[in-house]
Amino acid sequence: MRIDLLAELSNAHGTSGRESAIAEIVTRELTNHVARIEHDPLGGLWGIREAVDGTTDAPRLMLAAHMDELGLMVTGIDDAGYIRVLPLGGWDDRTLVSQRVLIHGRELVPGMVGVPAVHTLSPEARAKAAKIDDMQIDTGLPADRVRALVRPGDVVTRNQTFAALGDLVSGKALDDRVGVFVLLEAMRAAAPSPVEVYATATVQEEVGLRGARVATSRIIPTIGVAIDTCPATDGPGGKSQGTKLGGGTAIRIMDASAIGSHALVAFLEKLAIDRGIPHQFHVSDKGGTDTQSLQLSGQGAVAGCISIPARYGHSSIEVCHPADIKASIDLTIALIESAHEFTPSSRS
Ligand SMILES: [Zn+2]
Repeated sequence: MRIDLLAELSNAHGTSGRESAIAEIVTRELTNHVARIEHDPLGGLWGIREAVDGTTDAPRLMLAAHMDELGLMVTGIDDAGYIRVLPLGGWDDRTLVSQRVLIHGRELVPGMVGVPAVHTLSPEARAKAAKIDDMQIDTGLPADRVRALVRPGDVVTRNQTFAALGDLVSGKALDDRVGVFVLLEAMRAAAPSPVEVYATATVQEEVGLRGARVATSRIIPTIGVAIDTCPATDGPGGKSQGTKLGGGTAIRIMDASAIGSHALVAFLEKLAIDRGIPHQFHVSDKGGTDTQSLQLSGQGAVAGCISIPARYGHSSIEVCHPADIKASIDLTIALIESAHEFTPSSRS
């Protein structure tokens, strides 16, 4: 596993609608492993790997990982030069307090998320969790300098650097750069197969699974599999049931956005068993992934999701286990090499 590539993806910046820096990395990494790369008008792209010569009726396997990360968008600058923002995606607002950020203005402006000092607050205000609406970004610059550099519509990203955390890895935007990484590593390593593969990097997932809808409508896959993070429940205050870091790749059965194809879940489980890939299952009535768009767009597809468990999702820093990342790559490779054996009626 090329952890340096995962670090590059995590450290790169790309909020919903501004994914071009990530698209550049994806293009660079995919080029040698696909016949060609296509783009859609929203900024999504996919590399097409053709089926081996002589194949008839190759299934069209669309793998989708989203390039965008949670961010903020500038709404205005007040008289003191503090910047007001709105959320791009579903933040855990509390985790933004006192964090360093980067404002992508006329130049890259470092800032930090400020809230009133705790000893100036009433007891009621202290008891309330800070909301993005109440937060202001402090750049340390006078208002006229801020206005020259920043304007409404500029985006703001977390200023976090990818780093090891004991046996784990930590960084911003692992949701879903780790999925993009899994996709790229699987495309690099998978053997030729009688499967037409569409390695897709989608846009605007965090604001409503938007880009995958357009990409799916164009690709018209027979099988669609999202590759995305899922919440690990073994963090502080976590539950005993649910996915755990180090428990393997998570085959997603259900979340608030989609019920994965029962047959595809069984097929993924069989691949994992046959190849000795550590795996677990993710079942939730919350959250969502591009799986929904894969399943419902265009003509509809048999759809599922390979998930990488992550702690602290949608916070300022996210944490994954390298062994789960490796298992997710291995399961994606297995799918690329074996998707022609899948029949929607197959049962484990
Ligand atoms: Zn995600």
